[in-house]
Amino acid sequence: MVSSVALVTGGNRGIGLATVRAMSTAGFTSVAGSRSGAAPDGIACVPMDVSSTQSVDSAFADVEQEYGPVDVLVANAGITRDTLLMRMTDDDVDEVLQTNLFGALRCARRAARGMLKARHGRIILVSSVVWAVGSAGQVNYAAAKAGLVGAGRSMARELGSRGITVNIVAPGFVDTDMTAELDEKQRETILSSIPAGRYATPEEVAAVIAFLASDAAAYINGAVIPVDGGLGMGH
Ligand code: NDP
Repeated sequence: MVSSVALVTGGNRGIGLATVRAMSTAGFTSVAGSRSGAAPDGIACVPMDVSSTQSVDSAFADVEQEYGPVDVLVANAGITRDTLLMRMTDDDVDEVLQTNLFGALRCARRAARGMLKARHGRIILVSSVVWAVGSAGQVNYAAAKAGLVGAGRSMARELGSRGITVNIVAPGFVDTDMTAELDEKQRETILSSIPAGRYATPEEVAAVIAFLASDAAAYINGAVIPVDGGLGMGH
């Protein structure tokens, strides 16, 4: 491994926090990016709003100065603005695309700069099972998550010859603040559609991300890896 710094956007809670911890356990210098610049005790954190190019650039500069070049980017930050299509406002679409899709692209573009120099790197984009199967009430979110797959595969083609892999992790339902917003009826309906009969833990998603960041995953590129208990049946 040329360098060992991993930056996880939205690393202050949920899947991102579990990923920061998993990457530390795997031996990386693991840094969270968070809008507030704060994270739980013991977690290194830089202020970073992925919806702003300036904020992304300054977060990368901070990390590079303090810890060294970023070898692994986990583009995890995401939001939902769920509502039915007929009620969805321009802002609902714009905010979700700016954060979930363009936010990941901004970070990947900035990360690729150092990775190209190092001729080594890992970019892991956190999508969702809804990229493939759709989700009523999440037209904006599913569009962003499907966009990550096309973008990630295109990046994999552009960067693959330079020792950089780009892969996409597509979780199903995971126990985090994001799914805590669902009511009991929605939760029961969802659970009945998951072959595993339960939600994932954030740690189960983080373990797959950490594997993709490892040397053992050097020949996996442009892949979508589902972590969904069978909900998407491999998609
Ligand atoms: P949470 O809601 O628990 O956490 C979201 C994280 O994203 C927070 O750290 C939040 O930071 C950060 N974030 C949001 N907007 C921005 C921004 N503009 N700039 C920087 N950080 C931002 O979500 P999860 O852990 O559940 O989800 C993580 C990822 O996994 C998301 O991309 C989500 O779409 C995806 N996912 C989640 C699933 C689930 O069931 N939970 C299923 C499939 C995919 P802050 O604390 O500042 O708000």
